[in-house]
Amino acid sequence: MQNDHNKNYLNLMPSLIACKCPRCRVGMVYKHGPYSLTGRTMLPGCSHCGLVYEKEPGYFYAAMYVGYAFIVAELVSMAVAISVFTGSHVIIHFCDIAI
Ligand SMILES: [Zn+2]
Repeated sequence: MQNDHNKNYLNLMPSLIACKCPRCRVGMVYKHGPYSLTGRTMLPGCSHCGLVYEKEPGYFYAAMYVGYAFIVAELVSMAVAISVFTGSHVIIHFCDIAI
């Protein structure tokens, strides 16, 4: 795998456009090609180097936590804005829903 560091970054563009294997740049990622009209079916692994194309366990956990924080911040700021502009005490109910 030392050859990966010696490749020129400009040589990466054709393999990126053609959706080749991220490790060896030879094997295909999709069964019928990346721009097929019949749909993209991802292969389980590279036919050339054997790299397995799957996400690591816990890949989406960080996105879930960040998304939850954004939603809570949005709901609380919206509740504060409604409370300030209307004078109602709806902020208590929004905070109950968010948390
Ligand atoms: Zn490969």
